[in-house]
Amino acid sequence: MDFTESSIILKVGSFREIDLWVRLATPAHGVVTAFAFGGSRSRRRFMGCLDPLNRVDFQFRRSGRGEYLYLMEGRLVRGCPELRADAARLGPAVNCVKFYEAVFEGPDGTEESFALLAEALEVMEARADLSPLLPLLFRAKVVFLQGYAPGFGACPRCGKDLRTAVAPTLLVEQGVVACAEHAHGSGRRVVLDPWTVDLLETVRMRGVRRWADAVPPDASRRRLFDAVDALVRYHLGLAWEDGRFRRV
Ligand SMILES: [Zn+2]
Repeated sequence: MDFTESSIILKVGSFREIDLWVRLATPAHGVVTAFAFGGSRSRRRFMGCLDPLNRVDFQFRRSGRGEYLYLMEGRLVRGCPELRADAARLGPAVNCVKFYEAVFEGPDGTEESFALLAEALEVMEARADLSPLLPLLFRAKVVFLQGYAPGFGACPRCGKDLRTAVAPTLLVEQGVVACAEHAHGSGRRVVLDPWTVDLLETVRMRGVRRWADAVPPDASRRRLFDAVDALVRYHLGLAWEDGRFRRV
């Protein structure tokens, strides 16, 4: 059974002499591994396609029992030559890709998150002046798209604008951000500030281009990191350790 799907290449490895395995993000099949027989030689079937971070329309074939996926041919939609040649951009891009791979392992469709990854790579390819926070904000956006999206605009208990409230507080397990007076309940809490709630609300509501160059005041950097780290750990069960994301 053949099907065609737009894909983003996460990793490429070789086996035997001329064959490749390719780790791919797809909108309808999640993160999958597929084999490209003759991939390292076949210019005609995979011309310029098989590099990490490329967006490619692939024709897939499923093996008889459905256990394996094979790549039959590819058409390059968008490459990332600037990004791959610039270590300052490549590091953050690889971080986003590793996170994506950890979250979306498996067969579930992830159309919105696939579009997010595609947009993030497109922005990183087009611009060199991006925020050092981009990978962190990317993780926050993935959490929000998975449905764990507290509103950062107003306290749900009194309606006070959190951008002007003193010590707005994220209650991690409850998935709520409340003003200091109404931040009741047990569990992990992270005290935020006006800049942080404003940025996280922008991330929640808007696309990558709107927050790709956010520069944090020093005092907010730690709060932002703690908030996103706590949301990712609690809701997605992942933590960044030793250069990779681990299940916690
Ligand atoms: Zn309140």
